[in-house]
Formats: sequence, structure tokens, C-alpha cells
Amino acid sequence: MVATLPPIATDAPIPTWFGVGGPARRLAKPETVAQLAQCLELDPAALILGDGANLLVADAGVQPLVISLKQGEFEHFTIGQPDPRGNVLVDAGAGVHLFKLINATTDAGLAGLENLAGIPACLGGAVVMNAGGKYGAIADHIASVTVMDRATRALTTLKRAQIDFGYRASSIARSGAVVTAVQLRLKRSDPATVKRKLKEVTEYKKSTQPMSANSAGCAFKNPVLSTDLPGIAVAGSQVSAGMLIDRAGCKGMRHGTAEVSTVHGNFITAAKGGKADDVIALMRQVQAKVQAAFSVTLKPEVVIWGDTL
Ligand SMILES: Cc1cc2nc3c(=O)[nH]c(=O)nc-3n(C[C@H](O)[C@H](O)[C@H](O)COP(=O)(O)OP(=O)(O)OC[C@H]3O[C@@H](n4cnc5c(N)ncnc54)[C@H](O)[C@@H]3O)c2cc1C
Repeated sequence: MVATLPPIATDAPIPTWFGVGGPARRLAKPETVAQLAQCLELDPAALILGDGANLLVADAGVQPLVISLKQGEFEHFTIGQPDPRGNVLVDAGAGVHLFKLINATTDAGLAGLENLAGIPACLGGAVVMNAGGKYGAIADHIASVTVMDRATRALTTLKRAQIDFGYRASSIARSGAVVTAVQLRLKRSDPATVKRKLKEVTEYKKSTQPMSANSAGCAFKNPVLSTDLPGIAVAGSQVSAGMLIDRAGCKGMRHGTAEVSTVHGNFITAAKGGKADDVIALMRQVQAKVQAAFSVTLKPEVVIWGDTL
């Protein structure tokens, strides 16, 4: 059967956790891999939207086709049977929400994803960003990832060893390929122990980050120092961007509708009905203050559509 393009909405809002920014001139919601291929044929430079949790969209919106993968076959997942060593494979579409998958797998007594509790993401977005934190990253649990090449629309399944994962980075993001599905390898465990860990990780997140404010999580990546910073760390160490922002006196700084969180210096929050321009201007001010105080250039962790920092 020949796949047809899914309906394409025009001037459609782009839902993000920041809650600011303009519309997509065209937005498609493919239900199948064949429809996704049709969308990429229409616009090979299309922007892929996950849960919008690491995204800042410019106030003017974006011109390329935006493709959301939160429906149809992209939001299905299956939990396999344990092998003799207790390993369980979970097959999931790129649009499955991480919260949903964490709940389903921890309910089934599987260990692994509880370490990512509190991270808002679709599975595809979590994989390309290698989402994680103090308790580990998603790369720790990946068996393979299926991607679609933008130019040929061919599907390839990459084994974990073929993917280069780094700190909030992956070779998949660099290649521009679209994640369609992910296979995770989890471990059968004691359900009570897994739930206890889930609670611990969730409580840590809630106590250290402003989870209910409009943001994209950490605005900047934790930098690796190129020279010694006396009293902070030696050259080559990775230091907390939030700590540098705090010590540079930026906590609580405001620009228009944007604010540097007083709870966590690396979270920039936007007021309801706020402006992306305010967030970007504030990010530039924070970068400048940290540069002046420590000669460190903070690089954005948040992905910006339609503007640059
Ligand atoms: C309150 C809050 C707390 C957070 N805490 C953390 C944390 O502890 N650790 C952490 O790592 N992050 C954290 N984040 C950031 C965010 O949760 C992660 O970066 C997450 O991986 C984003 O996933 P997403 O599906 O929302 O991606 P989006 O924000 O929708 O997209 C991010 C990037 O991934 C690309 N992308 C999305 N889906 C696909 C796909 N299927 N194929 C190819 N490219 C794709 C997009 O094009 C974009 O470039 C937090 C965010 C918020 C709002």
C-alpha cells in the first residue's frame, strides 16, 4: 500500500515545557514509519518534536515542517520475557513518554529506568540528548536504536556499540537521523527495591530543581575547565554550570518575563505568557557574567529553534 502524507496543520502551536515561542508554519503528526518517510520527503530539513522538554522556540515560530512523533505506532511499547540471566528487552516507539515507560517497567519489577525518574521526555528525545543525571543516563540501558535517514528514508537498527553517547550528546543527534524506535535492556529485580529507588530519585529531583516552573531543565551544559579555577577545580574537570551561575551572582536575575531560578541556578524559567526573546536575552546575560567572573564560556544545553544564542 502506498503511504499518504498525514494531515498538515498550519500555524500550529508547538507545545514545549517552556510554554513560550511561536508556531510551526506546518505541523505533521505521522502515525506510521511510512508516513514519517513521506513527511521527510516533503521536507528533509524537518524539525523533530519530542516532548518539547529541551526546546526553546523563537517568538516568530519556525518555517521548516515540524514533525511530532507522539501518536500511532510511535507511542507503542512491549515488555519482553526475561532471559535466563534476568535481562528483559523492552521495544518502544520514539514517541513513548519516558514517565509512562518508567511507570510500566518499574511496576513490572524491572530495574534501570527508575534512575531517570522526573526527566520529561519522549524516548526519541531522551536518546538523542542522552538524558540523565546524578543516577545515570539512558545510554546505560540501550540495546539498540532504529533510525531513519533523512535523505534516503532508509531504516537502520544501530546496536549500542555503534552509537557514540556522551554527556547530553549522541552520534545520532550529530547525524541528524530521526529515531523511530528504541530497544532497552532492563534487569528483573525485586519490585519493592525498584520502587524505593524510584521514590528516592523522584524526591532528589523535586528537592533540587523547580520541576513545576516553565523551563527546559538545565539551560547550559556543565563545562569542562580549560584552566585551573582556584578554589573550584583544576583544568580538565567538569564543573556544575549551576554552581558557576550561582557564584557569578546570577540566581534570581530577571529579564522581562524570564528569571534565573532561585532554586537551581542552571534553570531559566519563563512566566506564563512569556517571551522566548526574554529567555534568550537572559541566557546571554548569564553567559556574559560567568565569562567575566571565571573566563568560562557556557554552551547551551537547551535546543533553540529559530534563533541562536
Ligand atoms: C523540568 C525539567 C527537568 C529536566 N531534567 C532533566 C534531567 O535531569 N536530565 C536531562 O538530561 N534532561 C533534563 N531535562 C531536559 C529534557 O527532559 C531532556 O533533554 C529530554 O531528553 C528532552 O526530550 P524531548 O522528547 O522533550 O525532546 P525535545 O525537547 O522535543 O527535543 C530535543 C531535541 O531532540 C530532538 N529529537 C526529539 N525527538 C527526536 C527523534 N525521535 N529523533 C531525532 N531527534 C529527536 C529534537 O529535534 C531536538 O533537537 C529537563 C527538562 C525539564 C523541563
